[in-house]
Amino acid sequence: MDEPLNVNALFLGPKSENYPFFKEMLDYLMDDHADWRRHFHPQDQPIVDQQEQDRPDFLATHQKTREALIELAGNLQLCSTPWFSPRYLGHMNADTLIAANLGFMLTLLYNPNNCAYEGSPATTALEIEVGRQLAKLMGYDPSASWGHITSGGTVANYEGLWLARNLKSIPLAIRACRPELTAGLDEWQLLNLTTAEILALADRAKTAGAFDEVRRRSVRGEGMRNMGLGKVLVPQSKHYSWTKAVDILGIGQENLICVPVQDDYRLDIAALTGIIDGLVARQIPILAVIGVVGTTEEGAVDEIQRIVRLRERYEKEGVSFYLHIDAAYGGYARALFLDGEDRFMDCDEVHRQHAAQGVIHGDTDWLTQEVYEAFRALPEADSITVDPHKLGYVPYAAGAIVAKDRRIIDLISYFAAYVFEKSDDNPMLLGSYIMEGSKAGAAVAAVWMAHRVVPLNVTGYGRIIGASIEGAYRFYRSLLAQQPLAVGGRQFEVIPLARPDINIVDYAFHEKGNPSLEAMNRLNQALYVQCSYKSGPVYVNDFITSKTALTAEEYGETPRAYVEKFGIAAAEWDRLESVYVLRSCFLTPYLTRHTTYDACWQNFRQAMERALTATHG
Ligand SMILES: *Cc1c(COP(=O)(O)O)cnc(C)c1O
Repeated sequence: MDEPLNVNALFLGPKSENYPFFKEMLDYLMDDHADWRRHFHPQDQPIVDQQEQDRPDFLATHQKTREALIELAGNLQLCSTPWFSPRYLGHMNADTLIAANLGFMLTLLYNPNNCAYEGSPATTALEIEVGRQLAKLMGYDPSASWGHITSGGTVANYEGLWLARNLKSIPLAIRACRPELTAGLDEWQLLNLTTAEILALADRAKTAGAFDEVRRRSVRGEGMRNMGLGKVLVPQSKHYSWTKAVDILGIGQENLICVPVQDDYRLDIAALTGIIDGLVARQIPILAVIGVVGTTEEGAVDEIQRIVRLRERYEKEGVSFYLHIDAAYGGYARALFLDGEDRFMDCDEVHRQHAAQGVIHGDTDWLTQEVYEAFRALPEADSITVDPHKLGYVPYAAGAIVAKDRRIIDLISYFAAYVFEKSDDNPMLLGSYIMEGSKAGAAVAAVWMAHRVVPLNVTGYGRIIGASIEGAYRFYRSLLAQQPLAVGGRQFEVIPLARPDINIVDYAFHEKGNPSLEAMNRLNQALYVQCSYKSGPVYVNDFITSKTALTAEEYGETPRAYVEKFGIAAAEWDRLESVYVLRSCFLTPYLTRHTTYDACWQNFRQAMERALTATHG
């Protein structure tokens, strides 16, 4: 039997604990690559001979490179953020996997371009492979689905909406050039076909030899003008890439509707239903609904299962919409629910395996039925964004999009993929099926290496992400149990925003008895300044975190209840319409064992006491 994965062997480590191994592998990859060059036509003579290498201008040129590298190294050391340390609990960053770093570094020397197969025979194949792996992780049938690496979640979201937009216009385009194929369907019905129905209709257009004309008559050919494709519904907790996406894709910001979120910062399903009912009553179609798994600011997991059920219910009434899930952050956490054979486990089995394998220890009490059901429902979505460079612990730039039905790429491709599918000549000209052009094969190799070493299930990523959740929960429970901090005769309490759905904890400090939201916001801003680059190079910081402001403009009335928890009057919220919170993303896997965690918590308390003293002492 295979040895279980040891998470502590996966990263360079906070004290470079795995340096000897990393260095050994670096030597290996340089030697290996150098040999590859030498062995290409071994009879060819070296071009740069010893005499050349001894010339002063040659040596000076090397020296210039050396000095530039030293300058860069200095810059990086002075100005970089130590993601690797458990003292860093800020943005969605952590140490990256040794395997991924090595994959990136080795591949960099070959510099493949995954835009076209010719420029990347090795890494295009790897991109197709990791696309399948991610599709499988999301619960899709790997042979029917499609996935590829993007520069990040932002571009994956653009591509998701690009797919949805083009798909929505296909039935109208078919009616325009092959009316017999849509006979008996009125415009409302054409705008409410399911994804499967539209793709079947597109297949009939292909058979009828009309597909190229259909694509010309669709939104990609004619633009958005008078298309009336409807509204995009996204939760208020959305990443700002969605606002950009409707702009770039010509859908327009007035067609983006933000759906309220609940006190737990999950999409409010009742509000979503109300909005859809209102649109349907006015015969306004819904282009797409976006659910979020792991919101950027709060880590909230929308109840995808309820969105899916809602869509099923509407479909019985002749209303349908595209469903895209933005799981840029939370997607990899689905590994926690897959057993060693990649099967989605029932909820009891999840608890049993987590306990038996030490994935999440003892009293963490993290998993709720809603979060379990949300991850289970992911494969019902039409497409999903999932970022290897977040909870995949892979270096930038690596996002991904996966789509349930691979035929959908025919609607965005600039190369007739469907023609070639039938032949043996697999072109794999990725650049013609995706939003980007030239792109790093090295980023793909990094993802492939990560997946090769760390299985996409409970035995692999489950262990890393499980450890990170355990750290987040220890912190969350410590905040709940925390006695007010006493500084200069004043008492400061701290309250977390919500129970974490994954591993992000938001919280705010408040001076007991203070009635002013403005003063509370100033306090947390001051704490942030002390615990971030704002107070100078972070290399000397005791603790580093991030922050966010929950405003009425973005979140409506949702943050009001949180403000009231501090004993601050609701009128204060009405006046300011903004509450400032500290935000800690727990990607670090090092806060599980009591000793490590206790040290971290002591350090947090001390850092906060010092920060409070600096600002209020
Ligand atoms: C991070 C994030 C994005 C954007 O991804 P990038 O990789 O930064 O482009 C989109 N959506 C969510 C929910 C995210 O957390």
